[in-house]
Amino acid sequence: MAKFGWEYENKTGPEQWSRLYPIANGNNQSPIDIKTRDTKHDPCLRPVCLCYDPATAKEMINDGYTVQITFKDNDNLSVLKNGPVCDIYRLRELHFHWGSIDDCGSEHRVDGVNYSGELHIVHWNSEKYSSFTEASLQADGLVILSVFMKVGQENPNLRRIIETLHAVKTKGKKVPFTNFNPTVLLPSSLDYWTYFGSLTSPPLYESVTWIIYKMPITISSCQLAQFRCLLSNIACETEIPIENNCRPPQPLKGRKVRSFTLDDPGTTVNSPRQVPNSARY
Ligand SMILES: [Zn+2]
Repeated sequence: MAKFGWEYENKTGPEQWSRLYPIANGNNQSPIDIKTRDTKHDPCLRPVCLCYDPATAKEMINDGYTVQITFKDNDNLSVLKNGPVCDIYRLRELHFHWGSIDDCGSEHRVDGVNYSGELHIVHWNSEKYSSFTEASLQADGLVILSVFMKVGQENPNLRRIIETLHAVKTKGKKVPFTNFNPTVLLPSSLDYWTYFGSLTSPPLYESVTWIIYKMPITISSCQLAQFRCLLSNIACETEIPIENNCRPPQPLKGRKVRSFTLDDPGTTVNSPRQVPNSARY
């Protein structure tokens, strides 16, 4: 298989990725199935602090595997702090994973159950490294926020993204996408799980601190269908819909998944702006 010629099915699907990317069989691969009974509450974990400037939003891109919204990341205008990490992490891009039907589409699973989709918001350690590329090779290089999408009511906060998808229908297309704050896509409860893992697509670097919100956001079946209208010609010569762009769960190999719950005794809430009342349930 040609480099960058990987796919999500057929002869160059996830089972074959290790031929070109041996780290695919590594000890810290993602996604995983989160067994909630095996997660451990960690009182040292803090709420995640997100300071995003909507002016850093840049473009929407169809890269043939997913749709991305990119952000200007040449300074610390949009950053993630706290949570399970100590350094400052700069917002780079967000993208989505979805299925061919509403019953699957997430990469991570919870007690074996799939959600209909998953949003990933990608950040890199700008305190220690000088670029996303450099950071993505380092164990403490990346933080990815993950938000499950559960089929249900229409989500008005996804409307603007979904209404723009038609403009990037085919692989390689990009359009300006500005003045956007990804915090509108977060669930009302900010409780999370965290573990150490990898990028979920090649090059699969083991450089990711995952923060996975426990509560999903909703998306309507109709909204999900719009993602499946995006096209790619990576899998064959003609353009076919992008769907099932999710890697199956990988072995945990002894890793621990830690849990943060806002209302646990001993947790200090020191930032009302980052932890609104609606975060409690
Ligand atoms: Zn992803």
